[in-house]
Amino acid sequence: MHPIKMYILDNGWVEYDESLLVSNPTLDTISNHNPYRKWIKSPCYCVLIDHPEKGWMLFDTGSHPEAMKGYWPNETIKQFPYYRTEQQLLINQLALIGLKPQDIKTVILSHGHLDHAGGLFLFKNADIYWPKADYEYAKRLLAIQPESRSSGPYIRADIESPARELHFVTKNLKLAPGIEIITLRGHTPEVLGLVVHLNSCTYIFPSDGIYMAPNYGSRINQSDIFYDNLSCLESIEKVRKLNEKSHSRIMYSHDMEQFKRFKLAPEYYE
Ligand SMILES: [Zn+2]
Repeated sequence: MHPIKMYILDNGWVEYDESLLVSNPTLDTISNHNPYRKWIKSPCYCVLIDHPEKGWMLFDTGSHPEAMKGYWPNETIKQFPYYRTEQQLLINQLALIGLKPQDIKTVILSHGHLDHAGGLFLFKNADIYWPKADYEYAKRLLAIQPESRSSGPYIRADIESPARELHFVTKNLKLAPGIEIITLRGHTPEVLGLVVHLNSCTYIFPSDGIYMAPNYGSRINQSDIFYDNLSCLESIEKVRKLNEKSHSRIMYSHDMEQFKRFKLAPEYYE
């Protein structure tokens, strides 16, 4: 049996005000009530696992290919424009490794937000693992606005994508040898993180449990877009404990500086 291989699939980037991910990076002062604000580029990516027993598994599915052509609401696009090349489409990223969507039997969705669940429609024959509390929250929000195509960062068509079977996750789970799912509360009622034990190193993908390095530093910089800030701090500490125990590498969800150092598909980690 071959060892576990792990690929990072580049799905383009979203741009927005930095303060959404790192709150108050710049503050008003006595002499400047209009402090400098930063517009940042933030990567979207998926993690593909070639597992010797479980076959092909995918963590997150990126943004929808037509996001900027009417699939995302206009108001969203003004604050969070999404950019991608043809090559960065998930379907073309899979093709780099010679795969089609139907080759993926297991999809782990960190949460239902539009920059993570936009490719779900490709995987109607896969088993989808979804954090139960996030799914129920999204369904509740959408149910209050039955005529709307979206509610905040949840797009109805993403949330209602068909699957072979939906598996609702409520606690940490060992999905296969070397592959674990961890639950992280805060960004939404629950987000799933992925832990991959490779021969070389253990990698933790906390998804939007930790967006960028500043959220994890000694002085924790919180974000403005948490569902529940206190739970979020607890989740960061949960990752920290795991990291200290396993000497792993943390792969932030939206940190462009770190992302530039990632090895991208078709290259892989093993
Ligand atoms: Zn995200």
